[in-house]
Amino acid sequence: TDGVAEEEDYHSIIKDTERSKGPADSHEFKAETKKLLDIVAKSLYSEKEVFIRELISNSSDALEKLRYLQTTHSDIVDSGAPLEIHLATDDSKKTFTIQDTGIGMTSDEMVENLGTIAKSGSKAFLESLGEASNADVKSQMIGQFGVGFYSSFMLMFTLSLINPILNLINGHQTEAEGVQRGTKIVIHLKGDCYDFAKEDIIKDVVKKYSNFVGVPIYLNGKKI
Ligand code: ADP
Ligand code: MG
Repeated sequence: TDGVAEEEDYHSIIKDTERSKGPADSHEFKAETKKLLDIVAKSLYSEKEVFIRELISNSSDALEKLRYLQTTHSDIVDSGAPLEIHLATDDSKKTFTIQDTGIGMTSDEMVENLGTIAKSGSKAFLESLGEASNADVKSQMIGQFGVGFYSSFMLMFTLSLINPILNLINGHQTEAEGVQRGTKIVIHLKGDCYDFAKEDIIKDVVKKYSNFVGVPIYLNGKKI
């Protein structure tokens, strides 16, 4: 191949386990979202690892939001849970998982935040991306324009957002195993991205990018 993934790889689906106990709802991305994902993937092909930085940065933001809420609300879901980020790799299943105990998202927020191009930064991002020349600059832009989550889509077949739960007052109850509060994202890696299901590789990338994170990060149960 020429190193650029085929478009059909981006028919990613957000599986939503919150609404029903039956089979998860699925949301196909809109055509223009797929186009954006395709552009992002092509631009960042040589720097795939930035997806880890972006996911950790989102978890870190979500934990900061929760920390703030804790100062004003006493009835936070699972209030005793420590503020942490947990990463897991599964070499046999070819998955990379990130879970945080942050503020979480409702089903609607999930679709809105992660599955549409209607976000304010998207258009500006696309325009500037066309002008940027080197890969480093492009990788920085991802974060700046508020489209960081999209960088994950270049690595996966499907994404399972396992019932992120709103932590707020009278918060929803989660049905996802092992998640009380926060967000759990399981990335099913594509063939040329299997390296990210390897603990050693993830460990190196995390060390490179996670200086800014104010909460503990665990990888397969061990603190990094
Ligand atoms: P940005 O972080 O710049 O807003 P992203 O594309 O990285 O842009 O994320 C989009 C939005 O999705 C975030 O603003 C946030 O509302 C939501 N989000 C992403 N990851 C998480 C998470 N782990 N927990 C809660 N919300 C999240
Ligand atoms: Mg982000």
